[in-house]
Amino acid sequence: MDGAQMDQHELAIVPESMIADMLTREAAFDAVEKVFAAMAAGQAYNFPVVREAIGHEDALYGFKGGFDRKAGVLGLKAGGYWPHNLERRGLINHQSTVFLFDPDSGRVKAMVGGNLLTALRTAAASSVSLRHLMRKDAKVLGMIGAGHQAGFQLRAALETHQFEKVIGWNYHPDMLPNLARVVEEAGLPFEAVELSGMRQADAIISITSSFDATLLAEHVSPGTHIACMGTDTKGKQEISAELLAKATVFTDEVAQSISIGEAQHAIAQGLISAADVNQLGAVINATHVGRTSDVEITIFDGTGVGLQDLAVASSIVEVALAQGKATLVPV
Ligand code: NAD
Repeated sequence: MDGAQMDQHELAIVPESMIADMLTREAAFDAVEKVFAAMAAGQAYNFPVVREAIGHEDALYGFKGGFDRKAGVLGLKAGGYWPHNLERRGLINHQSTVFLFDPDSGRVKAMVGGNLLTALRTAAASSVSLRHLMRKDAKVLGMIGAGHQAGFQLRAALETHQFEKVIGWNYHPDMLPNLARVVEEAGLPFEAVELSGMRQADAIISITSSFDATLLAEHVSPGTHIACMGTDTKGKQEISAELLAKATVFTDEVAQSISIGEAQHAIAQGLISAADVNQLGAVINATHVGRTSDVEITIFDGTGVGLQDLAVASSIVEVALAQGKATLVPV
């Protein structure tokens, strides 16, 4: 975010309604890749997450913050989940806003709508993992999950790599047309499969709200890369602990992966230790070799960190300022 284009007595506002025009998938990919690299290099860190059931509207509200010293990005995303929004108000259930601060003075610099941004930064994370961990000759993408996030994940993956076919499985099969539509728009064939059909896949993205393992070791072929994106809370689980334990595991942040991410179960069962979980950023920085063979199964445990939100918000503000579209308010 270029402070030179703003007066230090101004606050830049980029509301939710403008985010779609300000953020490309490419820019989100770039911002997330850079911040993962900065985290692995010790130049950026996330603050402890606050998440509270506020006892009103059954809402979960919280803060995810961090500081990227390298990029000079400091801030937080505030928001959460209001389960009755859609039915009672016609608003989406996930609501969030990002606030960015000047790390030199602490003054607030920007306020950015965080709803679409969250979906795009989450999709960017799995795409960054595909770029750095998937076999380069991958042809078939498998999708598990067909909800709100899945479409974003799929679009980003199809822009990251030239797949030849997409296969999909969902707990609620009636939602599979959500995937088929996106795949057909991209001019590729789509096939609904049983879980055993996932053995065709060279890469699998799983993005569900499941609390039980869906994908088992027997459903996955050697050499597959799996991006597990749904598990971001204690108790959630998308793949079996045995499958995770037989793979080489990467994550955005180790502390989250082993406590609220997909690795929590293999850790609890003593199948792996925290030392077995690697940072994806280290692969980006080439301090970790990443995939070492065509038969290795790699997993990205994408738990979602505040720094992803801040990096993408900062990129949005930069574009909005450059295009003269941010609302500048004196503070
Ligand atoms: P959604 O409600 O729109 O979709 C939920 C998906 O999970 C659907 O495909 C549904 O069929 C499937 N599902 C529901 N119950 C299931 C079960 N018992 N077993 C298997 N699948 C089941 O949700 P969404 O907005 O697409 O979010 C999906 C998940 O991603 C959530 O768990 C959410 O918390 C998580 N998420 C993670 C990040 C991150 O950064 N890692 C970011 C945003 C959301």
